[in-house]
Amino acid sequence: MLGKLFKTVIGSKNERELKKLAPIIIKINELEPLFKGLSDEQLKGKTGEFKQRIANGESLDDILPEAYAAVREVSVRVLGMRHFDVQLLGGIVLHRGNIAEMKTGEGKTLAATLPLYLNALLEHGSHLVTVNDYLAKRDAEWMGGIYQFLGLSVGVIVHDMDDQKRKAAYNSDITYGTNNEFGFDYLRDNMKYSFEDCVQRDLHFAIVDEVDSILVDESRTPLIISGPIERSQDPFYATVKPSIMKLKEHQDRVIRSILNKAQTLMGEENDDDKVIELLLQVKRGSPKNPRFLDIIAQDPGLKKGIDRMESLMRSQKSLPALDEELFCIIEEQDHSANWTDKGLKLLSGDQYDAFIVPDLSQGLQEIESDPHLNFKEKKKRKRELEAKYSETSERMHAAQQLIKAYWLFNKDVDYVVKDGQVIIVDEFTGRLMPGRRWSDGLHQAIEAKEGVNVADENQTLATITFQNYFRMYEKLAGMTGTADTEAPEFKKIYDLDVFVIPTHKKMIRKDFPDVIYKTEREKFKAVSEEINDLHKKGQPVLVGTISIEKSEMLSTMLRKTGIKHQVLNAKNHEREAEIIAQAGQNGTVTISTNMAGRGTDIVLGAGVPDLGGLHILGTARHESRRIDNQLRGRSGRQGDQGSSRFYLSLEDDLMRVFGSERIASVMDRLGMEEDQPIEHQIISRAIEGAQKRVEGINFNIRKNLLEYDDVMNQQRKVIYSQRREILKGENLKETIMDMINELIEAAVLDATDPKIFPEEWNLSPLSDYIYNVFGLLFQFSSKESKDLTQEILIDTLKQQVIDLYEKKEQEADPESFLFLQKIAMLRAIDDLWMDHLLGMDQLKEGVGLRGYGQMDPLKEYQKEGYGMFVSMVEGMKENTLRTLFRIRVAPQEKPAIGVPKKEIVLSHGGDGGSSPVKRKTPKVGRNDPCPCGSGKKYKHCCGR
Ligand code: ADP
Ligand code: MG
Repeated sequence: MLGKLFKTVIGSKNERELKKLAPIIIKINELEPLFKGLSDEQLKGKTGEFKQRIANGESLDDILPEAYAAVREVSVRVLGMRHFDVQLLGGIVLHRGNIAEMKTGEGKTLAATLPLYLNALLEHGSHLVTVNDYLAKRDAEWMGGIYQFLGLSVGVIVHDMDDQKRKAAYNSDITYGTNNEFGFDYLRDNMKYSFEDCVQRDLHFAIVDEVDSILVDESRTPLIISGPIERSQDPFYATVKPSIMKLKEHQDRVIRSILNKAQTLMGEENDDDKVIELLLQVKRGSPKNPRFLDIIAQDPGLKKGIDRMESLMRSQKSLPALDEELFCIIEEQDHSANWTDKGLKLLSGDQYDAFIVPDLSQGLQEIESDPHLNFKEKKKRKRELEAKYSETSERMHAAQQLIKAYWLFNKDVDYVVKDGQVIIVDEFTGRLMPGRRWSDGLHQAIEAKEGVNVADENQTLATITFQNYFRMYEKLAGMTGTADTEAPEFKKIYDLDVFVIPTHKKMIRKDFPDVIYKTEREKFKAVSEEINDLHKKGQPVLVGTISIEKSEMLSTMLRKTGIKHQVLNAKNHEREAEIIAQAGQNGTVTISTNMAGRGTDIVLGAGVPDLGGLHILGTARHESRRIDNQLRGRSGRQGDQGSSRFYLSLEDDLMRVFGSERIASVMDRLGMEEDQPIEHQIISRAIEGAQKRVEGINFNIRKNLLEYDDVMNQQRKVIYSQRREILKGENLKETIMDMINELIEAAVLDATDPKIFPEEWNLSPLSDYIYNVFGLLFQFSSKESKDLTQEILIDTLKQQVIDLYEKKEQEADPESFLFLQKIAMLRAIDDLWMDHLLGMDQLKEGVGLRGYGQMDPLKEYQKEGYGMFVSMVEGMKENTLRTLFRIRVAPQEKPAIGVPKKEIVLSHGGDGGSSPVKRKTPKVGRNDPCPCGSGKKYKHCCGR
């Protein structure tokens, strides 16, 4: 048995690594008779016995063989399923904190019970992360019997659950739930005002199911908790829109005339290079122009020429000259848009610097070193400069997002407009995603474009990427049918190794090479004929499409030919699972967008194996090979019969945008006739090459998001751990004392100059400040002033403030005083941290705009982000102390500071790795009452 098992393992390193595990599997198998002989009671007793041995110093690895043997035996008794050897192997790989690639249908759900049980013995909790609530519930119920038999508790976290139930589920030994719920609970816990309200325990061990979907596809956008803000300024989308429309009009006119020129020249067939140059201009100015796409589709060689010329000109830095005629440039590959000088002129109109950001650090330096300005004037000038900076970046940002909205996002493909709302069409599943919004202002830009109400922007209250959430687990593992193509990313980002686990039975699915047509119309005609043929035989077909639009188009075609079929676009996972579960029955035709129904088992109907099993028909290649493999993997599970084939056309996005020169030249060489497909190994390889390139680009997007989030991550860790400490009420007084000391030292050093005589020190700003923060008046007589030193000043002030503190402490009821300190600190942290999140967003945008100088935007972001963090921490101290010293606590009465109630929005979505939802600074009016609660006007208080 084992010999066979280990021979089928592919890849030599993989094989060597897995071979090392063979002795463990042999051991588990040897234990089997022993465990079979145990009574139910004895088997149940194993859990306590294992825990005792751990307490006596044995490691999980020591216990593993027996624990796995126990789980296997319980599974046989409870579920009637005996873990296959490959499942034991997967279970070991998972326990060791790796990714187990186990094909669809191999039984990952059951394999995971082994390491979940083993690791739960440590009593810190084991988490199993699924892609949706339906699977979380299903798997927890299905596998729950095993754990309960062994005396462990199981919990499920689903969307609409209150904190009490959540807490209970997290306190269970094993917890099932979705990535979103786990992530949001973490963020929400860090916004709580009492430690008892926190639901999560420390993050100990997690297995992520469908790990590629969660850690790769979904990790392009962060989780965001946001709340509405009052709008204090025009968000620019509506005001900039007319300029962008004008820009588009002008650009369209230029593009039209370039296209005319190109087509005339093509008719004359003389100057090929000139034609290519013209078409390259069109590509850069309007990559999705229908006329342009037509021309390219007619002559695949052109695309090759255009791409070649573009990279040549890029390396010679002559693209700017080519772009001169245009108003803006769209780089479809990396989803970016920018205007040319000509465009800038048109956009700015008579306000020449409306779209040029001032250089902030240089400007601030100039103000600082200007000898003609006094302190107050400097402060004012700085504030003005910052306001101008943020206004201009906002305006530029809105313009860029609008350009993307007009040039790259198509109604009814990328989004639909329904009931005055712009609804995203999910890129991976093709389903509508109501409530989800593109981040970074893109959604607002599209709303402005479509003329619907531009929704209020939200303020980010908390945010984290999946990468950084999952990296917090002490031990992380993952499983999926398709991980190997992403192995380098898993290694680099999560330090997870991928192990390819052999299948239980030999895989016999036949994967036919791709066929490729010239046009999409021809392709779909062929697809529908193929479905017809298979359907006549009774063989079930699962058709994969890349969008709802294509699903529906195909459905219409099939309806005309009278073929009964199911279209998978149910909004509910359970219904979806029901449909997909039937996909292997005799004569079924199922049309599904590519990820729909992940995790559902497709069992073949009677007689279907003799017809060749389930046939998978892909109607386009996805950007990522992994997603194609996922579709293919639906067939041929557990040694089933099956086959698969992809149909492509030169008009597919992947071919158009990323198709290599090779494809075009092969097509040229072979010649293409109407309705004549080409099926060629070279083409399949070339397509794979194109996919690899896109995967590379997408990896970079995710890496980029992570690099920026890493800066935040350090800060988030500091703030959250501080917050937790405060929540637990640990060392409160000490922390406050430290704050007092540090604040006073800094203030005195700032206000005095040891190089001049003490009697010449102007101490009035200092005493104003001290009064403002502590409500303490201090004065020195002129006699005292003569002998002053910085040390004396610091010590005197500290003593007076501490006296004041202790007086407060004695007067107040101890519990209230503790509560007051806690709230003062938490509120200062939360207010400033949320402002800081916003500031970091703006900074990210700002450095991005500065990027075309010589500076590395990431480095700038790190440097300035650190500076902002330090000054935020200063602000936190000041705000905490101000609240603490300014509020009088009546004995036996809790201070009336509430937890800010906000209508909170949870979101996870975006346009590929941009920053979280952004908003304007929540500016407090200069004359408004100060938010710190001092009762003074803002300008006389914190806003000074
Ligand atoms: P995966 O998640 O790997 O795609 P599932 O966990 O959904 O696979 O399991 C697929 C099917 O295989 C299920 O119907 C399950 O009952 C069955 N199965 C898994 N392991 C075993 C086993 N050891 N013995 C019998 N059936 C099994
Ligand atoms: Mg599964």
